[in-house]
Amino acid sequence: MMRFVVSLLASLALCSAPPARAEFDVARLKAAIGAAIETDYPRLDAIYKDIHAHPELAFQEVKTAAKLAAEMRAIGFDVTEQVGKTGLVAIYRNGNGPTVMVRTELDALPMEEKTGLPYASRDKTTWQGRETFVAHSCGHDIHMASWLGTAKTLVSLKDQWHGTLMFIAQPAEEIGAGAMAMLWDGLFTRFPKPDFAFGLHDGPFPYGHINYRVGVGSSNSDSLAIKFHGRGGHGAAPQQTIDPVLIAARFIVDVQTVISREKDPIEFGVVSIGAIHGGTAENIIPDEVVVRGTIRSFKPEVRAKMAAGIERTAKAVAAMSDAPPPDISITEGAKAVMNDPAVVAIAEKALKAAFGDKFRTSPPVTASEDFSEFADSGVPSMFFHIGVYEPERVAAALNGTAPPLPPNHSPLFAPVPKPTIQTGVEAMTLAVLSAFEQPARGN
Ligand SMILES: [Zn+2]
Ligand SMILES: [Zn+2]
Repeated sequence: MMRFVVSLLASLALCSAPPARAEFDVARLKAAIGAAIETDYPRLDAIYKDIHAHPELAFQEVKTAAKLAAEMRAIGFDVTEQVGKTGLVAIYRNGNGPTVMVRTELDALPMEEKTGLPYASRDKTTWQGRETFVAHSCGHDIHMASWLGTAKTLVSLKDQWHGTLMFIAQPAEEIGAGAMAMLWDGLFTRFPKPDFAFGLHDGPFPYGHINYRVGVGSSNSDSLAIKFHGRGGHGAAPQQTIDPVLIAARFIVDVQTVISREKDPIEFGVVSIGAIHGGTAENIIPDEVVVRGTIRSFKPEVRAKMAAGIERTAKAVAAMSDAPPPDISITEGAKAVMNDPAVVAIAEKALKAAFGDKFRTSPPVTASEDFSEFADSGVPSMFFHIGVYEPERVAAALNGTAPPLPPNHSPLFAPVPKPTIQTGVEAMTLAVLSAFEQPARGN
């Protein structure tokens, strides 16, 4: 806080006084940020509703990226387009100091929005060869509006900090591919490698509230695909066949013992089989069956243990039926988001002072997020969550007097825009300002 504390005091002609308490100054900054948002909000609201009504899927976010690029250029950022296919990198230099990265996602989901909002999406596109509705049901449009509002606010407060802002708009988070696409396209070589990075996600809890944690924030996500081979034949003469349907069925049941008998029960780990494909008719034993599933964990050692157990179980069930060994493919997806203790400690001070007990630690989420790739590339990071619903509605849903509130990925997910975006801008702006008070780490 020191630099803006000093400059605030200097502007009050009190420069011989010692710096005041951080809480006091954060409150003043929060007020300045609040005033900036109030001025910017009508524009942010219009952009939010336009992006919400016209969502685009992973790596198709051409119009969305163009809208953000135009806004960022208008406030003085140097914008590079098509980084990682449809991503943006926007840089704003303001003297010597650390480089701080702020990330938003750009993509929406292939699903139909059913909120009935006046700005609901009715747009359709082609996805995996089929026509589908598109909707911002994960709330990435809230993140874009908060990202833009944070950029505007930080530029308006540029006498309070020194360094470089690196605002990135990442494609294809929903398919876990966009962060890697940007890194492969030179995100940290063509542009400055940041000293700190921040990201946020919205969720179905009260607006004005912020959840965060130190260490693991989301799960490792891996996918499994196993092809069991058998010997096809007549359903009436199973003795002449090797039945891959039965082998797959055994696998689906037995693989859960990796979770219940092999993994430490205190550690988080999930295996869910989401698809099974085999056979064409009731009286034909097919010659192969494919099962697909997802594997989630927080810790690398649990992840490795589950992968080994899954592989062993698949081979064992095939051997039990005297079938050929199965083809096993376990593909690494997003890694767990790791919140850097030092970065969190710094941001925590400012956010605690600004939001009091509405800024809380929360358990890690079992969903995954490819923001983890930036930390994994060596950038100390913090990812936090902001709420989207009226506090009274959340309370009523919790005490059972109202229906549960739609979570992310529900066709009914409907954040209340103004207080949600306002909190996103306030929290992110304070987090970035707190990071500018730290020395660059010399990556
Ligand atoms: Zn999502
Ligand atoms: Zn999301």
